[in-house]
Amino acid sequence: MRKTFKPLLGIGYNQFINVVKLIHGEPINYPSFSSMTLDKDDVIVAKKWLRNKKTWYDCNTVEEYEKKFALWNGSKHAFAFMGGRIALSACIYALGLKEGDEVILPGYTCVVVPNAFHFAGIKTIYCDIELDTYGLDASQLECKITPKTKAVLLHHLYGLVCRDYEIILEIANKYGLKVIEDCAHSTGAEYKGKKVGNFGDTSFYSSEQSKIFTTIQGGMAVTNDDKIAEKMKKYYNNAMFPDDEWIDKQLHNVIYNYYAYKHRKRWFLGDFMKLLYKKKLLISTTKEEECGIKPTYYGKRMPSPIASIGLNQLEKIDYYNEQRRYIAKKWDKWCEKNGYKKPMVIPYSIPVYLRYPIIVEEEKKQDTSWALRELGVQVGIWFVSNIHPSAWPVTGCINADKSVKQCVNFPCLLS
Ligand SMILES: *Cc1c(COP(=O)(O)O)cnc(C)c1O
Repeated sequence: MRKTFKPLLGIGYNQFINVVKLIHGEPINYPSFSSMTLDKDDVIVAKKWLRNKKTWYDCNTVEEYEKKFALWNGSKHAFAFMGGRIALSACIYALGLKEGDEVILPGYTCVVVPNAFHFAGIKTIYCDIELDTYGLDASQLECKITPKTKAVLLHHLYGLVCRDYEIILEIANKYGLKVIEDCAHSTGAEYKGKKVGNFGDTSFYSSEQSKIFTTIQGGMAVTNDDKIAEKMKKYYNNAMFPDDEWIDKQLHNVIYNYYAYKHRKRWFLGDFMKLLYKKKLLISTTKEEECGIKPTYYGKRMPSPIASIGLNQLEKIDYYNEQRRYIAKKWDKWCEKNGYKKPMVIPYSIPVYLRYPIIVEEEKKQDTSWALRELGVQVGIWFVSNIHPSAWPVTGCINADKSVKQCVNFPCLLS
């Protein structure tokens, strides 16, 4: 019956189902990103900037955001861009990687990562991951190195510090390879008392809407090397700001995302907000990017209104990360009780648990309704392919293939 009502009721469908559920005393469906760190105070910041467009292209707030992030992260230099992927492009440029070079990266990643290399003419070689932390498996790394290999990209997926961190750094050092750290999931994770991203040559962080903290779209490139920073600054200075239509949309997305995914009454408000903000909604990865095509607006740096949201988010990032760690402990207990393997926390590391990943039976990834029924949560299923979400062929990555089929992730924030 619910199916036939859907097209008829359109926008009011969720409200209708939820009202029926309320009447029957059943739990209602909360639309969820399970990672939404936007609150009312972020909405206030967004509205303030929407009222005053005069200082949108003034750089002071951006500089303040970069300085604060660098300080918080324990890094020497930080540059704010309009996405983690753009920050990665800045890293690639700053490291002097050139057309025809090869980079080794995990065969379990987001499509925008290989894209950034391809846009620079660099060949991507995929290496398998381990199943303890879903990081690059160091034991498979050396055999992928050729005379053309110039860099290796490691990641700390789901907020876990990667198992072979130091070994990868050692191998890279031995072969003279540059190391880029993908910290898109792990802003705030620590290893041996330092934040991750400070161990390789350069690293990047993401503040996309599903990440550790959010500016809807956004990213930060970081380095502790003055020479690399000098080159990064060149990329940064050449990058343009997004136009005011884009900034306007992004600020409206802050408001929309709060009401649709965080507000207490979102089960009721969400659909209306979607209708109201229909023309303003932004998507993180377009269909063309999924096909490996460079969007025309690619490569922008961050303007002040967005940096202002970032500054507000930085105030709360430690609070939310503590919440993630606290909820992860509950999932640890659940794993122990139900016979699933807990994700590994490597010695001397403090993860941040963007999500809590586990390997489950294939059927449980194909149909995740069990989690809502049994646990009251919506599980994430990314990554659904080796080069998520694209179906690009990757061969010889057995553990990555297994994760694609069997790794689901639990939310780690109270929703
Ligand atoms: C999200 C993500 C990125 C890119 O970040 P954006 O800010 O969306 O460009 C890079 N790597 C991984 C693993 C990601 O999940």
